[in-house]
Amino acid sequence: MTTSARQLLLEYGLEPHKGLGQNFLLDRGALGRIVAAAEIQPGDRVLEIGPGLGVLTRALAEAGASVVAVELDRGLVGLLQDKLADLAQVRIIHQDILKADIGQLAGGAPYKVVANLPYNITSAALRHALEAAPRPALLVVMVQKEVAQRIVAEPGEMSLLAVSVQFYGRPRVMAHVPAGSFYPRPKVDSSILRIETFPALDIPEPDIPRFFALARAGFAQRRKQLRNTLSKGLNLPADAVEEKLRRCDIDPQRRAETLTLPEWKRLLREL
Ligand code: SAM
Repeated sequence: MTTSARQLLLEYGLEPHKGLGQNFLLDRGALGRIVAAAEIQPGDRVLEIGPGLGVLTRALAEAGASVVAVELDRGLVGLLQDKLADLAQVRIIHQDILKADIGQLAGGAPYKVVANLPYNITSAALRHALEAAPRPALLVVMVQKEVAQRIVAEPGEMSLLAVSVQFYGRPRVMAHVPAGSFYPRPKVDSSILRIETFPALDIPEPDIPRFFALARAGFAQRRKQLRNTLSKGLNLPADAVEEKLRRCDIDPQRRAETLTLPEWKRLLREL
């Protein structure tokens, strides 16, 4: 498999581009696990980020999905157009996913986002997909193992990344995929992460930026007490912050990493 990925690239005069996070998936088993985690049904609409050499794109299409695949590397776009020409339900778009209107490209709800994400834009791509309008119903993404673990963290070990994902949906690690399953071999192992998004958010859309401003302020100095980090980050007197925290039944000495999602939301309403 390594040989065939390398040969295919050679045939098109290409080399794996490190800056674009190009680690191509070789392991058929892992490929099958991604498609299974995405529960692809005939007729499903899938937006794929970074199709690369098209192996996942083909597997999704063969499971019955219509796939819009967004690839930034112009050389790979040419290769994909050749290699996937037999699949009428696949559309290749040459674009930076971070600049793409994901909801529009997907052709409206419901749709799923499936990707072996380039490691260098993991957080940005996840955020961009979760903020899309309409939002995907499901995301199944391959990410670095440590990143997956951070995303599914529980109160006590929360981070801004965990809050940002868990605000929109329920993340679950489906499988681990060792570094040797990719060409070129990355330095770290990966995991398949499945995020089922909530059909509706309990914070009105216009308040979402305020929610994230609050969480960002809380995590800006994550080892410090909330009373102080929020006072600094939100430019409010510490006493006023303390009172609001107490009104939400949150001890002002707690740290951002200990808060649950309902506590963040309560605090937003109070502030
Ligand atoms: N899906 C393929 C696979 O599983 O073998 C390739 C995955 S590789 C980890 C990531 C892919 O994302 C590469 O093809 C890379 O060129 C592409 N990519 C990187 N940055 C991108 C961006 N901003 N927008 C779209 N595609 C991007």
